[in-house]
Amino acid sequence: MRKNIVAGNWKMNNDAKETKSLLKELKKGLKKAKLNNTKVIVAPSFINLKLAVKQTKKAPIKVAAQNMHAAHSGAFTGEISASMLKSIAVNTVILGHSERRAYFGETDEILKAKVDSALEQNMKIIFCFGEELKDRQADQHFSVVESQINNVLFHLPETAWKRIVLAYEPVWAIGTGETATPEQAQEIHAFVRGIIEKQYSVTVANQTSILYGGSVKPTNAKEIFANPDVDGGLIGGAALKASDFLEIIAAI
Ligand code: PEP
Repeated sequence: MRKNIVAGNWKMNNDAKETKSLLKELKKGLKKAKLNNTKVIVAPSFINLKLAVKQTKKAPIKVAAQNMHAAHSGAFTGEISASMLKSIAVNTVILGHSERRAYFGETDEILKAKVDSALEQNMKIIFCFGEELKDRQADQHFSVVESQINNVLFHLPETAWKRIVLAYEPVWAIGTGETATPEQAQEIHAFVRGIIEKQYSVTVANQTSILYGGSVKPTNAKEIFANPDVDGGLIGGAALKASDFLEIIAAI
């Protein structure tokens, strides 16, 4: 059975003190939570990863990085590699977030190299993809999503898919307050599961968790998560407030 996952992408928010206090609140809230088949992940900024790992050692929270460089080491000022993340027990990385694509020029080619590098280190990947508003208006959303996944992931062997989680994040819904309707989310998630089945097998398709991201809030989480092909969410803004994030986790 595939896992349900609720992951919080904290982006460039929370200094060390705020990171500690948010984690403390989350840990307290999760003590009472029935998590069943749900995995909880948080992605603080690089500088707070180590303290987050330490603070969540005994908690049902995994820590992920928001990005990494494809190279193992070298002259890449300001960058962090997969092996560095692994060395502080960060075993999961978010790749392909639309903000990385839009503001830092991350292309499919760059992302493919990052995916390969993360997998070489046995890391797990939350791979984000999603169309822009202009693509949806031009009825190109299926082909855009298919090419993003095809260009970055479909060269991988079937065995690598145990380490891949997908996150459908329509760019027009990220941080905008506008959410895809449950039907729009389900439609894309089912389509993506279909192309994975065609490329690999029904087993890989059924085992791959596909998260939805884009203005998920306590008020809309339940109806989005109720869809058969939506296996949880990647949460931005609402992950910064413990009570909201806990409510979203409870909605699954
Ligand atoms: C995100 O950045 O991955 C995201 C989904 O943000 P928000 O929930 O704020 O739309």
